[in-house]
Amino acid sequence: MSETDRGLELPAAALAGLAASTPWLASARQRVALALRGGRLPHGLLLYGSPGGGQTPLAWWIAQLLFCRQQGLEPCGQCDDCVLFSAGTHPDLHWVGREDKATVIKVEQVRELSVSLTSKSFRGGYRVGIIDPVDTMNTNSYNAFLKTLEEPGERLALILVAQRTERIPATIQSRCQRVYVPRPPMDEALRWLRSTESADTDWPAYLEDCGGAPFAAIEAASAGEPVGPEMEAQLFDSRTTPDPMTLAQAWSKDRPAARLQWLELRLQRAIREQGEMSDQVNNNPSGRLKNSAAGRNIRGSFGLLDEVRRARQLEAGPANPLLLWENLLVGFLPATGQGTRRGDR
Ligand SMILES: [Zn+2]
Repeated sequence: MSETDRGLELPAAALAGLAASTPWLASARQRVALALRGGRLPHGLLLYGSPGGGQTPLAWWIAQLLFCRQQGLEPCGQCDDCVLFSAGTHPDLHWVGREDKATVIKVEQVRELSVSLTSKSFRGGYRVGIIDPVDTMNTNSYNAFLKTLEEPGERLALILVAQRTERIPATIQSRCQRVYVPRPPMDEALRWLRSTESADTDWPAYLEDCGGAPFAAIEAASAGEPVGPEMEAQLFDSRTTPDPMTLAQAWSKDRPAARLQWLELRLQRAIREQGEMSDQVNNNPSGRLKNSAAGRNIRGSFGLLDEVRRARQLEAGPANPLLLWENLLVGFLPATGQGTRRGDR
C-alpha cells in the first residue's frame, strides 16, 4: 500500500478531482481558498494527517487553485492554466516524491527542486512546489530545503505533505501553516466510496484494513482481497491452530505492510475492549473478579502491540521479510488463543 494516498499512481487532475469531491476535506479546502483570495495564504503549507485520509489529493487541488485564472474558491477546470494542470504539463508545478521503491526522498531530489524553484514563473502566476511525503526526508534534505522556505521569492507556494509531523524539524514547521486533514466518520467514508468508486465492493472490510482511511481503502481494493478477515480467522479465532511458518511464508510476500497495519489496529482495538471489560470487572461490588484474566490480557496485548510496531519499522527498512514475520508470528500465535500470554512471563 502506498503510504500517502495515491500520490504516485494517479495523474494530477484525477487527484485534484478526488479532493474536490470529498466532504471531509471541504472545510480545509474552504479555509485555504478564502485565505488565498483574501491575500492571507502563507507561502508554506504543511498538510498532515493519517495516511490515506486525503492530504495528497488536497495538495494537488490547492496547486490547481493557485494556478486557476478564474480566481474563485474552486478551480474552474476550464481556463488555460487549469487545462495545462489537468494535462499534467503545467510548467510552474514542481513535484518531488519517493522514487520507485525508495523509502525516503533523497537530498539530490530536494536540491533539484530548490534549483527549479528559483526560476521565474513561466505562466506569470504562482510557482508551486509539492513535497510528498516530506516526513521521509533526512536532516541533509531538510537543510537543503530550508533556504527555499526562508526566502521563497515572489508568488511561490510550497505545499508539504506528511503523515506525522514529529519527524519534521521545528525550523521547517515554524515556517508553514499547518493544515490537519481529518479522517471521515465511517458512514461518510462509505457513502463517498460507494458513490465515487464502485457500489458493490466490500468497502467496510477495506476501510477496516486501513483504519478508516478512504484513499488507502481505494488503494487496498486495487491490490486484492481485504487482508483483515483472513488474519482475524487465523490469529484471533481460538478454534484455529495456525502454523506460524506457513503463515510467515505467505504473508511476507503478500502485502506485508498492509497486514502489519491491520495487526496494529486490531491489537489497539483488543486493548480498548479489554480495558472496558476490566473496568466492569473492577466496578463489580463483590470484588471477587478483580485481577481476572481481563487485566492480564491487556499487558499481553501491549507486549504484542510493541512487537508489531517494531516489525512495522523494520519492514519499512532493509529487513528480511520472512524472518521478520516468523519472529512476529512465533511470538504472537500462542498468545492469541486460550493459552499463556507472552507478556505475562
Ligand atoms: Zn481555472
